[in-house]
Amino acid sequence: MISGKHRPTVLTVDQRAIRHNINHEVKRLDDHSELWMVVKANGYGHGATQVARAALEAGATGFCVAVLDEALELRDAGFTQPILVLGITTPEYAPLMAQRNISATVGSTEWLTAAMTYLQTAQLGRLNVHFGLDTGMGRIGFQTPAELRTAVDYLDEHEQQFNFEGIFTHFATADDPDDTYFKTQYQRWEGFMAQLSHRPRYVHVSNSATSLWHAACNGNLIRFGVAGYGLNPSGGAIQPPYELEPAMGLVSQLTFSKYVEAGRSIGYGATYTTSQPEWIGTVPIGYADGYERRLQGFDVLVDGQRCEIVGRICMDQLMIRLPKAYEPGTPVTLIGSDGNQTITMQDVATYCETIHYEIACGFTARVPRVYQN
Ligand SMILES: *Cc1c(COP(=O)(O)O)cnc(C)c1O
Repeated sequence: MISGKHRPTVLTVDQRAIRHNINHEVKRLDDHSELWMVVKANGYGHGATQVARAALEAGATGFCVAVLDEALELRDAGFTQPILVLGITTPEYAPLMAQRNISATVGSTEWLTAAMTYLQTAQLGRLNVHFGLDTGMGRIGFQTPAELRTAVDYLDEHEQQFNFEGIFTHFATADDPDDTYFKTQYQRWEGFMAQLSHRPRYVHVSNSATSLWHAACNGNLIRFGVAGYGLNPSGGAIQPPYELEPAMGLVSQLTFSKYVEAGRSIGYGATYTTSQPEWIGTVPIGYADGYERRLQGFDVLVDGQRCEIVGRICMDQLMIRLPKAYEPGTPVTLIGSDGNQTITMQDVATYCETIHYEIACGFTARVPRVYQN
């Protein structure tokens, strides 16, 4: 998708906010622990390489991504720090990962034996492996300590192909005020670890929520994602130990503004009809930009005032009801502050009945990211 550079709709990314959030978290870690910034999905929509750079400046020492191509993007951009692919990569790409020094998540001995064949043939170096343990997330990873032991033995027997670099798990409810299930998972984790003959370099269990609210469990590495972008992982149910500063904003401008008589309809389906003479403004953003159609009836900010989105949101444009006449070119804030009004990513997510993660990474490539500070 082409980036709309000649249109006033932009996502602003405040790199100082990212540094602030990471700085605070790094300060809470003990001397032997590291923070790897999670920059999957184009840095949760913020721009992977730009976020990675800001994260390093603030004390991060490595990165996590979801798919191999995201790791390759960082390597191609010149990042030499450790990178862990959190998802399962097809074993065929093990040599490529070894060659580019990208660490693989492994959840079965079968994966290792399949990768082994490719690694032996290609001889492009040793593959760094992090074993993923399924302690209750039910997504990927070893199910039992016995399965894990088999895999560790296999690694020990094939040290020319593999390096046992890390072991980890992932919590399903670390952002929940009720920690019952978290404790169940942590007990399973301890059960796995008790049966491990030797520990690898990195032992990690923490996403943002775990590190913010269960820091005692951390191990020696955290996988810090959403909180680094300044978003509260719990959505507001639990307060973080320091103030998170949101990095992403969304702004545009009116491209059109008109006075309409009472009884005129606005937008597809004619779902909104003016009940009195009104000023209607048009904003150049729509669902093709990731500004969801479900946001009809939500607000944007113009001149420090909340203005309702009226009529259906189109693919590329939406209409708002203005309190008075405003010229084309007038700034419109969709996420951020104007005067004493603020619309947060969480406000948008709440209106869409989803989580802010989905909103942030849902903005498409058509919206240019503009970096500040
Ligand atoms: C996405 C992800 C993270 C980061 O989670 P946040 O809630 O954004 O901190 C950490 N670990 C794994 C395995 C993930 O998939």
